[in-house]
Amino acid sequence: MTNVVYHKPNKNTENHVSIMDIHFISTTKTNLLSDELIPRLKNKEKCFIVTANPEIVMQTKEDAQFKHIVQTADFVVPDGVGIVIASKHKKQPIKERIPGFDLMLDLLKYANDNQLSCYFLGAKDYINNKAVSEINRRFPYLKVAGHHHGYFKGKESEVLREMKATKADLVFVALGSPQQERWIHKNIDQFSHGLFMGVGGSFDVLSGEVKRAPEKWIKLNLEWLYRLLKEPFRWKRILKVIEFMIRIYIKKE
Ligand code: UDP
Repeated sequence: MTNVVYHKPNKNTENHVSIMDIHFISTTKTNLLSDELIPRLKNKEKCFIVTANPEIVMQTKEDAQFKHIVQTADFVVPDGVGIVIASKHKKQPIKERIPGFDLMLDLLKYANDNQLSCYFLGAKDYINNKAVSEINRRFPYLKVAGHHHGYFKGKESEVLREMKATKADLVFVALGSPQQERWIHKNIDQFSHGLFMGVGGSFDVLSGEVKRAPEKWIKLNLEWLYRLLKEPFRWKRILKVIEFMIRIYIKKE
């Protein structure tokens, strides 16, 4: 087994923008796929993608170990309008917000077109099953290497063993942040290859159990507001975003 990550991207280039010590990739979704991710998939190189919003950046400020994990990712993708606003304020505008959900769909499409295999870890059991059925329906040529729900405390090594045996080309981990990034960081070395991506609540959306914001809201950069209105119990998250903005605008971090 080779545990080599062949082409670690250089994060000190002009297509990266640093926000509170997190180096975001500044490119379009199309170019991220064509220039970085697809070549890595073709070469069977390992790759770790984090999609980060202001809340995740704030978590990295509070938790040094988590910060290190995010910093070791090959690509930190700006998922969240707050990141784009912060980059503009720093006069280093990020080219495009790349929603993690959209990036996942594009990767699934690529896997479908090229008959690659994917593993789906995370979400509640029935949601995981529904999401995988929906993926089978929408992407019939993609190979489902395997799938498992995200509540496997006490069975970690069993799940890992099963996942490793599938040798999946892409591994989508939907355990929520920071658990999913911790899981990938802890286990990626055990795999021979694979693109690993934390996808948060994406299986809930794919399964149809949670509705994504209507297109108009997404275009207006109001996806976060839609989510807040639908899931008001998440209001504490907004405080983190406000704290992030204060740090950017007032403390000039
Ligand atoms: N989840 C899981 N195992 C856990 C905790 C959470 O599989 O131990 C799943 C949860 O069911 C949901 C996803 O992780 O599908 C987290 O979604 P959330 O919207 O909270 O994540 P975010 O996108 O905000 O990171």
